[in-house]
Amino acid sequence: MSTTLITNATIFDATGADTFTGDLLVEGNTIKSVSKGASGAQADVVIDGSGKFLMPGMTEGHAHLSFDSFTCTEDLIKPPPEEHAFLTARVAKKLLDMGFTSAYGASEAKLRLGVAVRNEVDAGNIPGPRIRAGSLEISVTGGMGDEARIHNPRSPILDNGTSPGIIIDGPEEMRKVVRICCREGCDNIKMDASGDPFYPNTPAFSTPMSYEEMEMAVKVAKSFGKMTNTHARSIESIQNSVKAGVDMIYHAEYTDEETLDMLEEAKDRIFVAPTIGLFHTMLHQGEPWLPKFVVEAMGIPALIEASSETHTALRKRGIRHLIGGDYGFKWAEQGTQALDLQLFVKYYGYTPAEALICATRNGGLAMRGPQGDLGTLKEGMLADMVLVDGNPLDDLSILMDESKLVMIMKDGGVHKLNDALSTSAAGQKVA
Ligand SMILES: [Zn+2]
Repeated sequence: MSTTLITNATIFDATGADTFTGDLLVEGNTIKSVSKGASGAQADVVIDGSGKFLMPGMTEGHAHLSFDSFTCTEDLIKPPPEEHAFLTARVAKKLLDMGFTSAYGASEAKLRLGVAVRNEVDAGNIPGPRIRAGSLEISVTGGMGDEARIHNPRSPILDNGTSPGIIIDGPEEMRKVVRICCREGCDNIKMDASGDPFYPNTPAFSTPMSYEEMEMAVKVAKSFGKMTNTHARSIESIQNSVKAGVDMIYHAEYTDEETLDMLEEAKDRIFVAPTIGLFHTMLHQGEPWLPKFVVEAMGIPALIEASSETHTALRKRGIRHLIGGDYGFKWAEQGTQALDLQLFVKYYGYTPAEALICATRNGGLAMRGPQGDLGTLKEGMLADMVLVDGNPLDDLSILMDESKLVMIMKDGGVHKLNDALSTSAAGQKVA
């Protein structure tokens, strides 16, 4: 098995421990040892980490790999599947280039885009992060994603010619659709449980999807060994998600004391991704596609305020937050997901180190579940890591600068290496 030694780096292991200077040895696809100070270990490839910061690879917690520079719902539907698959593959590479060694799929614009790209990445045919493939959005009549109208009623089950999702009504239709998503290879089943500011007839605080529909989806997904995610902005949709046994709750702006208590009680089995980047960038980088007065009329400032309150409270209650979410729009481009680290500090009161743990350790747990073998730099963990030229704990924005990510490793394989850093064991530069 081939070995790689990274020497004399500032190691951030994402366990909550302080950083230390030391060596890390990779054998095959796992971390063989981590030592404070020089290890004296031999390896096929030695990478000089002096003055560099070594951290686990990051996880995008709400990935839409099939979205790229979009501005509206129509953009999600328009691309033919052939072009759309290439676009999705390009986005997967972009994420890995930016230090995201994992992508936890929310939803994709077509049912098998995430599946196909995941399969190609896993086969080693194209570069990309570890991917848990998202399904299509599953919504209900009148819910987020239902673009049909009475004069244009297309949009029955699995006809997403008019909608960026599948519209179901009732538990039996949900059963069928979730089974289809599982059959087609999706890892994560996505439900639109609450409304959304993009859909004026179902605002963010409304809850179009019933508990019975959600419960059915969770039951079917679990029977296939899949995970479930909910778009849940309203109190009722969040409470339903916890009760039904959903694994990942997205957004979660509106809460009350009872809801916060429920989330805290479930904190060892659920993950929460606030996706603050979307609203922050809509408000501050939305022009010219989203004029500021439109963003304000949509109520985005109030949603940001609600998000700050809820997720600051959830941070204090020990919820496992993930970063990322809803990148892929013109105002929030793919590859800029690390912006969320700064937003977690700004809006939720995380320290930079805690924000990094959300991006790494929590992401690894969501990706691999109870195996718990991803997301920290400890002996026996899967070897996903990033070597950074600079210290993100002093300035988190450097993680958005591709040139500062001097080495990116996924599953023990080097995706990127600044060649000034590497020597073979014999002391020769690796070509
Ligand atoms: Zn989303």
